[in-house]
Amino acid sequence: MDYRFTQDQIAIKDLAERFTAAEITPNAATWDAEHFFPREAIKRAAALGFGAIYLDESLGGIGLKRIDAAIIFEAIAYGCPSTSAFISIHNMATWMIATFGGDAVRKKYLPELVSMENIASYALTEPDSGSDAAGLKAKAKRMSDHYLVNGSKAFISGAGENEVYVCMLRTGDKSHRGISCLVIDKDMPGVSFGAQERKLGWHSQPTATVIFEDVQVPLENLVGDEGQGFAIAMSGLDGGRLNIGACSIGGAQRCLDEAVDYVKQRKQFGRAIAEFQNTQFMLADMATELAASRTLLHVAAQKVDDDSADKTAFAAMAKLKATEAGSKIANDSLQLHGGYGYLMDYPVERFVRDLRAHEILEGTSQIMRMVIGRDLIS
Ligand SMILES: Cc1cc2nc3c(=O)[nH]c(=O)nc-3n(C[C@H](O)[C@H](O)[C@H](O)COP(=O)(O)OP(=O)(O)OC[C@H]3O[C@@H](n4cnc5c(N)ncnc54)[C@H](O)[C@@H]3O)c2cc1C
Repeated sequence: MDYRFTQDQIAIKDLAERFTAAEITPNAATWDAEHFFPREAIKRAAALGFGAIYLDESLGGIGLKRIDAAIIFEAIAYGCPSTSAFISIHNMATWMIATFGGDAVRKKYLPELVSMENIASYALTEPDSGSDAAGLKAKAKRMSDHYLVNGSKAFISGAGENEVYVCMLRTGDKSHRGISCLVIDKDMPGVSFGAQERKLGWHSQPTATVIFEDVQVPLENLVGDEGQGFAIAMSGLDGGRLNIGACSIGGAQRCLDEAVDYVKQRKQFGRAIAEFQNTQFMLADMATELAASRTLLHVAAQKVDDDSADKTAFAAMAKLKATEAGSKIANDSLQLHGGYGYLMDYPVERFVRDLRAHEILEGTSQIMRMVIGRDLIS
């Protein structure tokens, strides 16, 4: 693999960084403090093509690769990891409809998802099935001209705000082969939402339970074949995990830059704290971990693009490395800021809170180790 960016990738990076500097960075602290969902800023991201990054151009997307998506999500996360991750989940759900959906479901949903007039959620987790996602119980019963859906989905990013829910539901036996993927609209009768979750971070986006009570979903809203839902959900997660890793890297880069600036101007014992060897060693470790995480993530992105046999293991390695390193770098940056790092006057504490979520969602660090370990002994 070539580790230099192409001219196109440099242009994409530049575009995403300029967008972030103008639209995201100046507002992110307010969105966090006020739990404000920045729908208009997100729509402006879509105007640049960031709502359908790896969708084919024939479907309205910008037809980029996974590595390009990683560049974009890293850049946006430099301003706000929460908003970047939110856009990444929409991209994952939209890609699932585009890749596995038939003509009818694509035609019905893609145009407004590409423009982010409508935003998509990914609904896999349930109150009693998180890591053991294949144990899900929400049911879609096939009737003559529709599916009848009952059950609930927990922790759904975008719930209550987003218009479209790409849902994994049980249509068959209790195994992972009994799961199918259906697209459900926010305004279908029988769809409702739990109270918004009160979270440590990720304040710029809503999270809630989605409840289905006798929801009649047209048969054409099935994505892929019946029984293919779990495989679709997992293949979406290969790319999703790269994106979440990229969000950690962008956030960690910001925390490193903030730390470098701070230690050069903060004086103790008559000199800048940057002059202490401990400070330099901490910064050196942060930069090294960041570079290693980014490199692994780009290798994994290439493997997902190439459909390599080990793509799932590499996507899990990349997420594991980037999210754990990201949290440590953010925490070390807070430490280098001393007491000021703990205050909301500086941006670092927000990044500590936002990045922490990345070690949990789209598969916890423990599940990443399970995926990698299984691959090694298979
Ligand atoms: C902010 C946020 C947003 C989210 N957004 C979405 C979303 O949009 N869509 C969606 O579908 N889900 C979403 N999730 C859910 C997320 O994917 C789950 O929380 C996650 O998969 C873990 O499931 P759980 O919370 O039920 O924890 P559990 O599965 O109950 O795990 C609890 C602990 O046990 C460990 N554990 C579980 N099984 C094993 C094992 N076999 N070996 C070792 N350790 C194990 C876990 O690693 C964890 O440490 C979101 C979560 C959060 C926090």
